[in-house]
Amino acid sequence: MSPLERFSAAWREDYVSAVSAKDHESEDTECVFCALANEPANESTGVLFRSDTSFITLNAFPYGSGHLLVLPRRHVATLQELREDEYTEFFWTMRKAVVALEATYQPDGMNVGFNLGHAAGAGIPKHLHGHVLPRWTGDTNFMTTIAETRVLSESLVATWQKVHAHL
Ligand SMILES: [Zn+2]
Repeated sequence: MSPLERFSAAWREDYVSAVSAKDHESEDTECVFCALANEPANESTGVLFRSDTSFITLNAFPYGSGHLLVLPRRHVATLQELREDEYTEFFWTMRKAVVALEATYQPDGMNVGFNLGHAAGAGIPKHLHGHVLPRWTGDTNFMTTIAETRVLSESLVATWQKVHAHL
């Protein structure tokens, strides 16, 4: 199984078990984002870009084509736990993801944001991650989108190849 497939499986598992989130969170399970943080950027891992303290990856469980995640490489759950240098690089990387998606898809708009905590809809709340998602006029709204599992029009590998060309 490739790292991307492991990530995808773990992500789904986390969604399924979100109902019993309290028990789940207290377990000392391996963090799928930490495992991904040191993977090389390639089609197999789904990682698109890595800096010293942050990285961009495909969302293995996307709400639509071109759905990226931007993460600190260090395991922190909140924005306030980031050091100043990590914070700066994290948002620099968020902007880099926005620029790459703009160049790749020329969308009508973009959702950029965070779900902090299970109650806010975070699938994996223990490791901070920002969502960057291209949107088109006529899409369902973001809250509807994230409440559903959507069928993709584009494979993850195809997304990786297209976006990576613009990073
Ligand atoms: Zn982690």
